[in-house]
Amino acid sequence: MTSIEQNLQAVHARMAQACARCGRDAQAVRLLAVSKTFGPESVAQAFSAGQSAFGENYVQEALDKMAALTHLPIEWHCIGPIQSNKTRQVAQHFAWVHSVDRLKIAQRLSEQRDPALAPLQVLVQVNVDDGPNKSGVAVHEALALAQAVAALPRLRLRGVMALPEPQDTEEAQWAVHARARAVFEQLRASGLDVDTLSLGMSGDLEAAIAQGSTLVRVGSAIFGTRPSSG
Ligand SMILES: *Cc1c(COP(=O)(O)O)cnc(C)c1O
Repeated sequence: MTSIEQNLQAVHARMAQACARCGRDAQAVRLLAVSKTFGPESVAQAFSAGQSAFGENYVQEALDKMAALTHLPIEWHCIGPIQSNKTRQVAQHFAWVHSVDRLKIAQRLSEQRDPALAPLQVLVQVNVDDGPNKSGVAVHEALALAQAVAALPRLRLRGVMALPEPQDTEEAQWAVHARARAVFEQLRASGLDVDTLSLGMSGDLEAAIAQGSTLVRVGSAIFGTRPSSG
């Protein structure tokens, strides 16, 4: 077994244990493997170990990997900040986008998505902790943005993503994750047909699952530590 394969097994075991601890069905939480900074060989290894959804932060890096892996039916998720000049490539090449935090970006993605493709699956990124990483719509503006996104053609609003700053204690993780969950539930309560809460990474997936995450985004626990800039 390769170490990527072993790491994937360990992550699935953590996810299953976290689900068991809070009485959730293990099938209710999906794993997104975050492959930024790792090459196509690493992605291919994880794929052959059964992992089919991969997240990338940098559009050009992702396109290079996709080009090297066209033979694999991978579901690609864009999880990094999106500049206006990159929306066309995102609309053309990804199945999911987690990082929509402005209507202008959503409108461009909607206009640029090829109608022959399945709708682009969209999550609204919410800034739940006013962290120095300022991506994400403010909590009080999330519902209005989500409603506007849901009305756009060729996009399918699926829910909410949050990327809180790392917290030292599990209690502190719970507090920020609870804010993401509250936004997700607000969307649902307002009648939006959403099913995805993208929350939790290598260091905090247990807390995220306890707060209702349905999609954890895990990089280093699968592929190893990245160079610090990643
Ligand atoms: C890098 C990254 C992850 C994965 O982080 P790890 O700590 O390596 O698991 C998840 N989500 C986003 C948005 C990221 O940029």
